[in-house]
Amino acid sequence: MNELNDISVVIPIYNEQNNIKELYDRLISSISSFTNKFELIFVNDGSRDNSFLELFKLCENDSRVFYINFSRNFGHQVAVSAGLEYCRGKCTVIIDGDLQDPPELIVQLYKKYQGGFDVVYAKRANRAGESFFKKMTSKFFYRILEKITSFNIPLDTGDFRLLDNKVVNALNKMPERNKYLRGQVAWLGFEQTYVLFERQERKHGESGYSYGKMFRLAIDAITSFSDMPLSLVIRLGFMISFISFLVIIYTLFAHFVLKDTVTGWSSLIISSMFIGGIQLFSIGIIGEYISRINRNVQDRPLYIIEKTNLKK
Ligand code: UDP
Ligand code: MG
Repeated sequence: MNELNDISVVIPIYNEQNNIKELYDRLISSISSFTNKFELIFVNDGSRDNSFLELFKLCENDSRVFYINFSRNFGHQVAVSAGLEYCRGKCTVIIDGDLQDPPELIVQLYKKYQGGFDVVYAKRANRAGESFFKKMTSKFFYRILEKITSFNIPLDTGDFRLLDNKVVNALNKMPERNKYLRGQVAWLGFEQTYVLFERQERKHGESGYSYGKMFRLAIDAITSFSDMPLSLVIRLGFMISFISFLVIIYTLFAHFVLKDTVTGWSSLIISSMFIGGIQLFSIGIIGEYISRINRNVQDRPLYIIEKTNLKK
């Protein structure tokens, strides 16, 4: 197939068996309103339910539908990255498979794209059906990320967005193993704009993003785009060394001049616990950066495909 589609859609799927049919119907009716030349690429990220069977059925009945079946769960960011490597559209939309991102919005994303923008991201005006804790932590996290990165990662967005072909190609050339796509897209530049939307509740099933996975994504986001934690460590080191120096002077003075040696168990235990905590914290931060280097040096494939009906 040499001719490019007008639009490709990449959909990561992890345990979405009850959402796939409705998602497909709504995608088709939304996209058909402006073109017939499109493809849907579903990336099955090691689902444990019947998602793959559902996808397989779709592919049998519609030649515009493709699947990539991973050998296991590799995570949402990796699933999207795989889709981006295979898509053949003049532009590509990334959309969640749980109907939280309304497929109908693609029409508006496409309109902006035709107006000359290379990246059109969907910005959440609200987020229905998500826990207070999730909203609070993500708000806090994005504000911090904004402070410690040198370029702007747009607030209140997920990966639901439209990317021009040239942005997709540029993304595919970014070799890092720990992906944080929305940061990478922001880093790339190009003409970017957004469309506001009301984020829906997940239709069926439950979130595949455990707090563990969210924490991982947050660490990847920070270590991908900021060295601030490392400079924090060195500043902390300086500060604490300085304070220790003052305390040493005082201790010597108390011992030799005042002849007043304190028995002080409390001060000893507090200071050693404090230093111990700071040290572990600092080693942890450095460790995160080392583990990034390690993952990239190993140069393993990002994902393993069990089966696909796509050609690269
Ligand atoms: N997903 C995935 N792999 C995972 C977790 C999630 O491909 O390990 C998919 C999931 O099927 C959905 C999208 O990524 O299409 C967003 O995940 P989810 O809805 O679970 O996250 P939330 O919206 O709760 O942040
Ligand atoms: Mg969701």
